Amino acid sequence: MQQINLHTHQINLGTNIQILNVFAQNLPFSIADQLFSAGLHPWHIGKVNPDDCLLAIEKATVHENLLAIGECGLDRSINEIFAIQELYFKRQIEIAEKYHKPLIIHCVRAYPDLIRMKKELKSDIPWIIHGYNGNLETTKSLNSHDFYFSVGESFLTDERKRESFHEIPFDHLFFETDDSEISIQKIYLFAAEILKTSEDLLTEAIFNNFKTIFRNGKLVTTN
Ligand SMILES: [Zn+2]
Repeated sequence: MQQINLHTHQINLGTNIQILNVFAQNLPFSIADQLFSAGLHPWHIGKVNPDDCLLAIEKATVHENLLAIGECGLDRSINEIFAIQELYFKRQIEIAEKYHKPLIIHCVRAYPDLIRMKKELKSDIPWIIHGYNGNLETTKSLNSHDFYFSVGESFLTDERKRESFHEIPFDHLFFETDDSEISIQKIYLFAAEILKTSEDLLTEAIFNNFKTIFRNGKLVTTN
């Protein structure tokens, strides 16, 4: 069974399934058989024409390999005005809702805002927080609002985040390499060790999550 890499910045048509992150300003994108997500990153709002980016994202939804909208989201550690970040995040949520695509979310020090927006918008598409790094309390409150989590090397190797990792429900969990050079296999192995389960069982569980969440994806419909 194939291992899912939910979020990566490296093109790699290996045997596993990976969702390549494409920044909206680099659209249109097309490589045969390469699954991807497309989004306007909060770091880029002031550096690109954000409205052109939104149009490009909406156009990209016709591509059957476009599995998710993102990474997009909120970041309280940067200078970009927060209300502007919220505005462009909201517009991408609207695109995701319209085309029934999950969201891949970048979130830094803005978890309460994320929960507030999800509640306000009564959104029913999956919201997946990528590069998740929150503590136990944060995980508990995100759980109660049905968020999904994609975790990578830095979270798994941080001993202080162990309890937080154990708090993530198996059916709301993904793994990713993001911009790291580490292989997705290593991440699964490491996670299986922490969870005291086998790599095979973990691979199967995450594959099932993928099938459930990306039910509109090409891969899933051909299976
Ligand atoms: Zn990334």
